[in-house]
Amino acid sequence: MAPNNTSSGYNTPDSSLEGVLPVHPTAARRPHAITVQSENTSYTDEYITAQYQNRGAEVTVSNGQYNIVPTVQNVEFRTKRAPAKTGLMMIGMGGNNGTTLCATILANRHNIVWHTKNGVQQPNYIGSMLRASTVRIGTEPGTGREVHVPVSDVLPMVHPNDLVLGGWDISGMPMDKAMFRAKVLDYDLARQVAPHMELLGSPLPSVYYPDFIAANQEARADNVIAGDDKQAHLEHIRADICKFKQENELDRVVVFWTANTERYSDIIPGVNDTADNLLNAIKTSHSEVSPSTLFAVAAILEGEPFVNGAPQNTFVPGVIDLAERHKGFIGGDDLKSGQTKLKSVFAEFLVNAGIKPLSIASYNHLGNNDGHNLSAERQFKSKEISKSSVVDDMVNANRLLYKAPEVGPKGEPIGKGEHPDHIVVIKYVPAVGDSKRAIDEYYSEIFCGGRSTINIFNECEDSLLATPLILDLTILTELLTRVQYRKDKANEYSPLYSVLSLLSYMLKAPLVKPGTEVVNSLNRQRNALETFLKACIGLEGNSDLLLETRVW
Ligand code: NAD
Repeated sequence: MAPNNTSSGYNTPDSSLEGVLPVHPTAARRPHAITVQSENTSYTDEYITAQYQNRGAEVTVSNGQYNIVPTVQNVEFRTKRAPAKTGLMMIGMGGNNGTTLCATILANRHNIVWHTKNGVQQPNYIGSMLRASTVRIGTEPGTGREVHVPVSDVLPMVHPNDLVLGGWDISGMPMDKAMFRAKVLDYDLARQVAPHMELLGSPLPSVYYPDFIAANQEARADNVIAGDDKQAHLEHIRADICKFKQENELDRVVVFWTANTERYSDIIPGVNDTADNLLNAIKTSHSEVSPSTLFAVAAILEGEPFVNGAPQNTFVPGVIDLAERHKGFIGGDDLKSGQTKLKSVFAEFLVNAGIKPLSIASYNHLGNNDGHNLSAERQFKSKEISKSSVVDDMVNANRLLYKAPEVGPKGEPIGKGEHPDHIVVIKYVPAVGDSKRAIDEYYSEIFCGGRSTINIFNECEDSLLATPLILDLTILTELLTRVQYRKDKANEYSPLYSVLSLLSYMLKAPLVKPGTEVVNSLNRQRNALETFLKACIGLEGNSDLLLETRVW
């Protein structure tokens, strides 16, 4: 339909409905209102400093006897109070997630409201754990009533409206047109936000190595950095980050992969197993260096954090090594938006209820460009891997229901032990567009040989679920770059460890410190984050002991 230039608002950045409704609470700005009055917490203009006691327990098992020694470790956290002026540079900016993120930030920034068949709709940040969920911070004296605050108020965080937006795409379509191509937003919102999107221009040209994404994406690739010299590509991307930072006077740029899912890279000794080998492989343009790995290396070398929102193994060992060497920050993999998020709650619920899932069968169909790319075998494989490990830790934690792995001669486990059958199928059905359908069957053993079958049908508006996750990951990453710690007052403060596993809540296959265990349980992931944020202001974890309600 041709736009009506005189009355539709299509050609003017000012929406006719702008500001008709007050700002939604999830988008509202509040002064940082929390002060902890305790000898453990101190405030200066620049920092919040908090003493924290990290309590745990060391367990040894011998002859079936568990011997437990409680442990306590003193840690001091110091958080820089002023959020950095932050840019978000997305790789894949012109895709469904990238355009939806830009358009919804712009809609929030300008408070553009729009008509739907249900009435007038206002922009908000529903779906953002930071902006739209709360944390129990304590109880009111006298009444004992619980007090909850927005998670984003626990420590000073960047407001999503303030993120400076930019990035790359192998498709050069201008952002307003790319938003219409994505077919995610209601037309009345899209037409009003289009002039703002137009001001973002076209994404920067990107690195395109056709071997890594599906062949069906080739037609989009009209905006690529020339040549096949990977070292030159690396320098090009580093210069892009540097220029974006300077031009927008930014203190921090979060570089975020929300481009197509790539195939897995082979891990080859001498090529991508160490930082030096990887840097050398880039110099010699080795074929196993993927575009996403190149972007991760560029971000680390520029001193900026990198987050991987897709499932491929961007973080080959050489990238982790490089991040450690530069004390850089990385996080991933794969946004946990729909089916896997539910599974990380549902499987845990069953196992923790003492019920034994025998099989979990998951089907998806979707019709957006992500689905088109995933219809190719090697790219599907990356997604299948990231979706399939989600129940591992829950099963490993319960050896009453699932047999432990056999043990080899040196006591080493052989295989994974008993496990529910778990399959994941993804099909491309263009008609359903961005509205992914996920069907899951949980088939479980219950009391005395009984069986229980639970079927879940979940319709996900894919990009509308994914966008708030990208925002949370970006805002949290920026925050985590401002937190330092020391275990002894005599020591200097250190930054957090390079792999930001505190981002796990938003990620399907969380990357963790090599050699440590992955936590997939959504509840535990959220608990870790709440506990960490509270620790940074000197509050103990969110104990549900609620002793005052249990004693006289
Ligand atoms: P999309 O296909 O709409 O967008 C991807 C964009 O990346 C496209 O515009 C494409 O041109 C661009 N691109 C491909 N290779 C590139 C490169 N080398 N450099 C720069 N740009 C490149 O996909 P989407 O729906 O926005 O999803 C993006 C990614 O997020 C996918 O990998 C998807 O699997 C992952 N993801 C999405 C969701 C969700 O719910 N939407 C959930 C989890 C993970």
